[in-house]
Amino acid sequence: MIIVKKITDVQQFLAKDNAKQKSTGFVPTMGALHDGHISLIKAAKKETGVVVCSIFVNPTQFNDPKDFEKYPVTIESDIYLLEKAGCDVLFLPAVAEMYPEGFQTSLHFELGFIETILEGEFRPGHFQGVCQVVYRLLEIITPDKLFLGQKDFQQCMVIRKMAATFFPRLDIIICPTQRESSGLAMSSRNKRLSDADKITATAIFETMQYVKNNIQPGNLNLLQQKAVRQLTAKGFRVDYVAIADAFTLRLQESWDGKEQIVVLVAAFLNEVRLIDNLILN
Ligand code: AMP
Repeated sequence: MIIVKKITDVQQFLAKDNAKQKSTGFVPTMGALHDGHISLIKAAKKETGVVVCSIFVNPTQFNDPKDFEKYPVTIESDIYLLEKAGCDVLFLPAVAEMYPEGFQTSLHFELGFIETILEGEFRPGHFQGVCQVVYRLLEIITPDKLFLGQKDFQQCMVIRKMAATFFPRLDIIICPTQRESSGLAMSSRNKRLSDADKITATAIFETMQYVKNNIQPGNLNLLQQKAVRQLTAKGFRVDYVAIADAFTLRLQESWDGKEQIVVLVAAFLNEVRLIDNLILN
């Protein structure tokens, strides 16, 4: 694996004949890598000839400065895991490389409804920051295929929307959420949880399964409220438990028994905000 920090270096590498003739798969990350990230690298490895991973903790997508400051950094272990998984290029830019002075960071993306709910509502500006960095990375790497995790369900929809406008030929592949054996979705933020909190955090998956096992056509309010109560009783501060159309993310107050729906959860355990989702049917 080669490790590059400069945009010109990564572009030079990808422009060489032996790389140019192959398709490029791209996995953008913020580091503190775990098996969830590595599953994306492996999927990219299977489907493309050159696999590029980026690690960049993007300041413009953090609406909470404390969250940004405390974001885990484990670069040595990240490099080891990426090499083991067969990643070809690690792009490791500094903030000044991505957003040089005078760089237009106020580019606005028209995301419409999808940005007004759930993560968009609770983390104002977050998806603009996500689009900004992904747009910039896609311009630099120009991959054929982009690999994303279903763990960030709404983010996948947002990036699809942005890419449909600016990168219409890009193939986007969404990979399933990797979980610990306890059901807890793997996440870089889990590194901030104590051992006891890691056990408590499994309540998110249990609650989503409770919703899945108990959902029936008709009004969903009671089920949704029960799910919130279950998490609150375990010590979570719940931002939302939402049941939504899996294609549009329109929130569902009632269900006709046919529409494909998804439950999405965001909740704080102590200071750590966790998100997860599960397709219900
Ligand atoms: P992040 O480093 O959190 O920005 O995530 C980078 C990519 O990895 C995103 O596409 C995430 O959706 C994906 N990802 C994060 N956690 C998981 C997981 N547990 N399973 C699968 N993909 C994941």
